[in-house]
Amino acid sequence: MQATLALVGRPNVGKSTLFNRLTRSRDALVANLPGLTRDRKYGLGRLGGRDYLVVDTGGLGEETDAIDALMGEQTRAAMREATHLLLLIDGRTGVTAGDEALAAELRVMGKPVYLVVNKVDTTTPDAALAEAYRLGLGEPLLISATRGSGLERLIERVIPGPASEAWTDAETDDPSVADASAASRGNMPRPRSKEGTRIAFVGRPNVGKSTLVNRLIGENRVVVFDRPGTTRDTIDVPFERDGRRYVLVDTAGIRRRARVNEMVEKFSIVKALEAINAADVVVLVLDARAGVTEQDAHLIGLALDAGAPLVVAVNKWDGLTADERADVRRGLDLRLTFLDFAERHFISALHGTGVGHLLAAAHRADDSAHREVSTAALNRLLEGLVAAHQPPLSRGRRIKLRYAHLGGHRPFTIVIHGNQTERLPGEYKRYLANGYRKALKLVGTPVALEFKTGD
Ligand code: GDP
Ligand code: GDP
Repeated sequence: MQATLALVGRPNVGKSTLFNRLTRSRDALVANLPGLTRDRKYGLGRLGGRDYLVVDTGGLGEETDAIDALMGEQTRAAMREATHLLLLIDGRTGVTAGDEALAAELRVMGKPVYLVVNKVDTTTPDAALAEAYRLGLGEPLLISATRGSGLERLIERVIPGPASEAWTDAETDDPSVADASAASRGNMPRPRSKEGTRIAFVGRPNVGKSTLVNRLIGENRVVVFDRPGTTRDTIDVPFERDGRRYVLVDTAGIRRRARVNEMVEKFSIVKALEAINAADVVVLVLDARAGVTEQDAHLIGLALDAGAPLVVAVNKWDGLTADERADVRRGLDLRLTFLDFAERHFISALHGTGVGHLLAAAHRADDSAHREVSTAALNRLLEGLVAAHQPPLSRGRRIKLRYAHLGGHRPFTIVIHGNQTERLPGEYKRYLANGYRKALKLVGTPVALEFKTGD
């Protein structure tokens, strides 16, 4: 199961600083989603060979020790989603009444709680420690979020067990090339399933996922399956068309369940992430009338991190004037530049318009992601790309790219060996990725490049 760490603590103890540290591998990606992720609360990270999802509950509490103000409904929802709770306190100020109130709340959640003492760079650890033990949450973990010290130990303590096989942590600063450390996470070969291509329909509540799945199967099965009170979070619908088998995964159950119990989070990123990870292809459903919202951006970030083949379905295309449609297209072009590898379909789930093309698009994405390409072919292409456009000089020497081979399939990953590759500008990486994409006719799958340097 995905370890999901919720960061809880009074304002200013350093939650967002820690969040950024723990999800650093995604920083470049996030920085390149203009205006989409300002209030990002969820992020994937990898440290000490462990993968995890971090939820920052920050920005919600007030500067007070009153528990109601500190812990809004959002924070509680995040805590319910989490598998591990991290209570962050400020080592400089010592334990306050607010910290004590939070500790008491966390203790009764029935989940492992860890006490994290931050800002130990500015305080003597001993004094901070003695205070922290008072909270009765076991041995405190000392960190400095700004310096990044103590973080690996923290993760190793929270997520014990052997580190998973790290497949190099080369990083690119280019979202269109995908995040190579994310690539390494998802890069296990995935056997093609006998039950059929698993397509997850992911999107915010009300964008039309259930309507779309119903439309695809031509009957109201999803609704029938989705009785109120059911505890199922997603609904699998086996389905066959033109001799091919599918499992359509409707993630809308998340919302329906929320109607039954209003206290339950209305939109579960964790459930969406599970659906994304289990799917062969993700169909991201957007509402044409709403554009790309913050929640959409979260989902896109998760799908990109998972390296999942992707199709974008812009739903509710009916009833829009030509001008409105042009506006929507422009808006999407602007906000989804980093998704230009994915096919974009404008559909009406309600009327069925355009829906028929989605399955074919899902196949193209799935096939692209599974493409086998010989080392010889990848090397030929590398030679051609380098000849057409040399890598720049660095420290007076030409950056050299020597050979390439296939690294994995989720996302489609090409490993390139050379020297000084860590100095390749993002622009050049994008050039290589786009060159490969075009030559190999890859659609719907991110292309990740991993660089290995020989000197
Ligand atoms: P949040 O409100 O809990 O999200 O706290 P922030 O992450 O915004 O941090 C609040 C302030 O504490 C900022 O000025 C940070 O730079 C500072 N801060 C965070 N972590 C550390 C740390 O490890 N050491 C020091 N000295 N300052 C820190
Ligand atoms: P979900 O929460 O994503 O599963 O969304 P639903 O499938 O329950 O749809 C939410 C609402 O949007 C319902 O009232 C649907 O009738 C409506 N809806 C879904 N697809 C379309 C569409 O293509 N056009 C229009 N106009 N409305 C739609």
